[in-house]
Amino acid sequence: MKAIRVHAYGGPEVLSREDIPTPAPGDGEVLVRIEAAGVNFIDVYHRTGLYPLSLPFTPGVEAAGVVETVASGLAQVREGDRVAYVMQPGAYAEHAVVPAWKLVPIPDSLDTRSAAAALLQGLTAHYLTHSTYSLRQGETALVHAAAGGVGLLLVQLAKRLGATVIGTVSTEEKARLAQEAGADHAILYTETDFEGEVKRITGGRGVDVVYDSVGAASFERSLNCLRPRGALVLFGQSSGPVPPLELGRLASKGSLFITRPALAHYVADRAELLQRAEDLFDWIVSGELGLRIHKTYPLEAAAEAHRDLEGRKTAGKLLLVP
Ligand code: NDP
Repeated sequence: MKAIRVHAYGGPEVLSREDIPTPAPGDGEVLVRIEAAGVNFIDVYHRTGLYPLSLPFTPGVEAAGVVETVASGLAQVREGDRVAYVMQPGAYAEHAVVPAWKLVPIPDSLDTRSAAAALLQGLTAHYLTHSTYSLRQGETALVHAAAGGVGLLLVQLAKRLGATVIGTVSTEEKARLAQEAGADHAILYTETDFEGEVKRITGGRGVDVVYDSVGAASFERSLNCLRPRGALVLFGQSSGPVPPLELGRLASKGSLFITRPALAHYVADRAELLQRAEDLFDWIVSGELGLRIHKTYPLEAAAEAHRDLEGRKTAGKLLLVP
């Protein structure tokens, strides 16, 4: 089968297209024929070695497609089922072996590419707004990279819960997209100091929660944007990792809360995975949640997709089609 392989950590140029044997499912596993794989920032961290995987590996942790082979003894899944999955390496390929418990059935009313586009970033937006910090009506959230893949979904779910949303973005076009998604304010943080602007918008009070996936470039000012006893949810580091924090500073800045969540711990068992995915797919099918697919690339163009994502050129989801 065709696959993208990484033999050494590095830039997008280490993503090479190869022919490798199609894997065979073991106990409790199925073979999925992939119709679309999601490109996510975590794929960049795997490629650079920031989150090291053992070399060589096939990147990509999200895809949707059709079950082709089922290991014997598995009753809950059948050949021909349309499924999506996340947090399983090897998605930049024509096929992948996936543990059956990670498979999410795709409703008939949802096309396979939309399912691939929705799952990882949508589950993330779901757990961040419903579990990590359960947003309530009338609260105010600051969302960085608000026109990104996670960002556009996070803005919509925060609005759905009745929050006021302040988004940060790097361009006028991204500001427009964040506002279309429902953001009440969009700050061009490449031109305007977002800390001062958030203080101005909130009348000096600060926001209840900051959802920060940008990391190094935003972290300190994100802390300064919080109201006393507010929460900083640091869930990524698109601009680089955050240096160590002296915990006493949380007290002096207003008894702040801070957490560094990861999706894997919020879809840790099948019941939780299915409950969040069901919400997500229902909202998409009913039109309550809009998906924005920025671009669909052929599998061979994985390096170009990574360059675009890292180069801040994208707004919404990137897909690879084998
Ligand atoms: P995005 O589509 O959000 O792309 C990253 C965006 O970050 C860019 O478009 C850009 O938006 C912004 N950004 C700011 N500074 C930089 C920089 N120096 N280099 C690159 N981008 C920068 O990606 P994803 O939606 O895939 O992921 C967003 C973040 O969420 C990532 O950090 C990812 O690791 C994290 N994540 C965490 C999860 C978790 O469970 N903890 C799960 C899923 C994602 P702009 O141009 O507007 O500044």
